[in-house]
Parts: sequence; C-alpha cells; structure tokens
Amino acid sequence: MYYKEIYILVYFAANIFEHLYMQEKLTVIYIISDRRSGSTLLENMLSKSREILSVGELAMLKGHIYKEGPGELWNWNCSCGKPVMQCEFWSKVLKGIYDDNFETKITWQYKSVQLLLSSFTSINSKSTLQKLINTKRNKQTVQVLNEVYKALGNISDKKFIVDSSKDPIQALAITKCVDINVKLIWLTRDLRAITFSKLKRWKQNKRSDKKPLETLIDSFRYKKVCNAVIKNVGEKNTIKISYEALAEKPQQQLDNICAKFGLADYQAPEYMELNNDHTIAGTPGRFEKKVIAADNSWKDFYKQHAMLNALGKVFNAL
Ligand SMILES: [Zn+2]
Repeated sequence: MYYKEIYILVYFAANIFEHLYMQEKLTVIYIISDRRSGSTLLENMLSKSREILSVGELAMLKGHIYKEGPGELWNWNCSCGKPVMQCEFWSKVLKGIYDDNFETKITWQYKSVQLLLSSFTSINSKSTLQKLINTKRNKQTVQVLNEVYKALGNISDKKFIVDSSKDPIQALAITKCVDINVKLIWLTRDLRAITFSKLKRWKQNKRSDKKPLETLIDSFRYKKVCNAVIKNVGEKNTIKISYEALAEKPQQQLDNICAKFGLADYQAPEYMELNNDHTIAGTPGRFEKKVIAADNSWKDFYKQHAMLNALGKVFNAL
C-alpha cells in the first residue's frame, strides 16, 4: 500500500512537471501554404498580437545573408531596410549561432513520386515523410533552427514566434526541434486563384514559362503534400484557414487561431503594414500599406478558360 501511494505521488509530480515544462517552452506558429496564398498577409496580421514575434520566412534567412535565391527585389535585406548581418535585431539573434555550417532551409525533392503517391493514398505517408526529413543535412538544419528559435524567444521575450516559411516539409521537420512546441496553420486558397497569381508573377519576372494547366496541376500536388503533413501532425496542433475567409472576416479567423493555440484575443488590423518589423522575405507588395481585402482579380481570366476553370473546381474539392 505504501509503495502504491509513492507511485501515485511520483506519477502526479511527473505530470505536473511535464505540464509546467510544456507551458514554458516557446511555441512556434508555422504557416503552411502555397505561394501567392496570403501567407505574408496572415503573418503580418498575427504580428499585431502583443504575444507574438513574427520573423517572416525563416527558411530564407541563410539565402538573405548570402544574398542568394528569392529576395533580389529587395536586395535580400531585412524588412527594416538593412542587410541581415547589419540589422540590429538579426545580428543579435545570430550571435554565437552563425558559422560556416549555418543552414535554415530543409531540402526535399518536390516531385518525389513516392511522396506524391503517398499523399494521395495516405498509405505509408508517415514513413515517406519521415524519410524525407531524416537526411543528415536536414537533421543538422533542424538543430540550427532550434537554436535560432530559442534565440528569437530569448531576445524578444515573446512566448510565440510566427514563421511563415510556407514549405510543408520544413514544417514537419521543425516538429523535431527539441526546445519548442510547434503549431501549424494551413492557409489554403482557391487553386484557380493561386494558379492565376503564380502565372502573373512569373510573367512579370520573366522567370518561368510554365503553362496554366501545368501550374494548376503542380498547385494541386502541392496541396496534397500539405494535406499529408497536416494529417501527420494531427488535429490538436493544426488549424486550417482559408485565404478567402481571412480576407473577408479577419476578426473571426484570428479569434479561431487565438482560441486554438491559447493566445489572448486582440483586434484584427484593418491594414496590412509593416511597423518596426524585422521580417525575412514575403510578398514583394508588403512594403506598401494596404487595406485588407480579398483579391478576386483572377476571376476574369477563367471566363476565357472554361476547361481550366472546371478542373480547378474539381481540384478544389479533392
Ligand atoms: Zn531588421
């Protein structure tokens, strides 16, 4: 009987300890989405909570330091206008972390057939996804990211960090960071809108000659990968939000996110604007102050593309 009582006591003590420890851990709210889906808008809206520090797309941090990859339009500077290593915020964060092995981007083969199939059927999706993130290089990256998140928490003194890196596999990988809790927001958007917006952006940048159908199919595949990751992480730590609902009823959607992840409610902003932010990457339009409203400029395009429109509707439903 005596042993039994000790056992119960130890059991409760362990539970309380675990509870306190989990409470104290920094929480990273990671936004999963395709490109051109409003992730910068959501990131900016979340940054208005006093409990949150938003850092933009952390996966792009190394690229911004080296001035490589996406970011040329703003010369890979922090949103404060300074190069990352000269920015007062990031230079503090990176002190003692930045070295020759510094890497912030998880790498994976987008068109991995196995991954694609598994995300459609859910058979073996767990082991396939784990295989993708468990490479030697990715494991090292996870360790670096863990240190960066910790430093972000210490320097900002915030309990929540928002990372809008978008990449679903990166999201799954950071669930392996030992010192943080990870919550995921999957921001979806009508695939027809995503396709139109990608094509428009590529045309402006003269970067890609992908056709509309190919772009729509690619966007659908990407959605399936996001879905597989969300399933893998589980309902408790994930929430799905649509861009359309966010732009039309921002307060309602922010309230849903706050309730789900234990944040205090706060007033939704009317404008998307940067205020003393030190964010990495994001949509090129983020430097202008803009009223928050749904962008429906894609709809006219589909009046001339009936088949694509129909296929897009089917893909949306799947
Ligand atoms: Zn800065």
